[in-house]
Amino acid sequence: MAKLKRGLAYDDVLLLPQYSDIRSRSEVDISQQMNVGSAIHSFDIPIISSPMDTVTEASMATALAAAGGLGVIHRYNSIEGQCAIVHQVKKTHPTAPISAAIGITGDYINRAGALVEAGASILCVDVAHGHHLMMKEALQSLRYCLPKVHLMAGNVATREAFEDLADWGADSIRCNIGGGSICSTRVQTGHGVPGLQTIFDCHLANTKRDVKIIADGGIKNSGDIVKALAAGADFVMLGSLLAGTIQAPGEVITDTAGKIYKTYRGMASPQAQKDWRGKASSLEGVSTVVPFKGDVTPILEDLCTGIRSGLSYSGCRTILELQAVAQFIEQTPAGSTESGTHIMGKK
Ligand code: IMP
Repeated sequence: MAKLKRGLAYDDVLLLPQYSDIRSRSEVDISQQMNVGSAIHSFDIPIISSPMDTVTEASMATALAAAGGLGVIHRYNSIEGQCAIVHQVKKTHPTAPISAAIGITGDYINRAGALVEAGASILCVDVAHGHHLMMKEALQSLRYCLPKVHLMAGNVATREAFEDLADWGADSIRCNIGGGSICSTRVQTGHGVPGLQTIFDCHLANTKRDVKIIADGGIKNSGDIVKALAAGADFVMLGSLLAGTIQAPGEVITDTAGKIYKTYRGMASPQAQKDWRGKASSLEGVSTVVPFKGDVTPILEDLCTGIRSGLSYSGCRTILELQAVAQFIEQTPAGSTESGTHIMGKK
């Protein structure tokens, strides 16, 4: 018989403000660790950019490396093209970890080997439905061929999927199915789990493991990042928040009124699929334009200011402390309306 479970989205909850003795946001440390190769790398910020052709190529990966985060270079590229991007980032940030996404069919083993050779130390096995036999086979083959490389895998939405991917060898797991701003998976297939619920569930599955949880998709602001971290995420992965910036791939588009935009599209959108595969075989993403936002660096700085401020509202100096003491409260739809700035709509 079919089962029913309740699931919370980011906007369904708030964090309870708690006693704080933090005098300045500079006391708050938002760095996070991850095993990269045989060493532990400390990232200054818990932010990873999405492997999408309108988010991460050399320029975005370089900006993320400079900020102390991580860029994941999309895989919709020739092996040579993707390796050239890795080389370009490595030129200016030789010691920063860099990731490339790969798939689970076709040339993925050759691509993985070439990327590691080029200097990538994290491979992101990038599949829409990661809880799949082919993911198991791919992770096992990759682990055999490249025993030391960090394997990031996903996406998953349930505790069972998280446990399986961890058992199959994933070092970090992208959590959330159908929550991305350009995603139409839930509309097309009826499947998914509200984003924050996925993080709660995967965190429970991780109590006896140390697989890194990456909250991916549907993150709209630094408040959502704080909620994701408090619920158990180690890192967040951002698409729309970084799209439209100078560092995002793609041309600036000017409309007749002189307003400027850049394209932001799902990798399963018909447009992206036609460009990379020559045909569209599924319709689980959309393509749109977003206002041009300028340099990504101040955007990352603003997000980090918000994250530090968020930790201080819970009285915490580290993300680990936040995860230990955070208390969530559910809010009603009226509460959710009250939680946004709401002066604008009033006459
Ligand atoms: P955003 O930060 O809400 O814009 O979501 C970005 C995330 O959406 C990415 O990191 C992917 O996990 C996911 N994504 C990218 N392309 C697609 C797509 O075409 N369909 C569904 N999800 C996608």
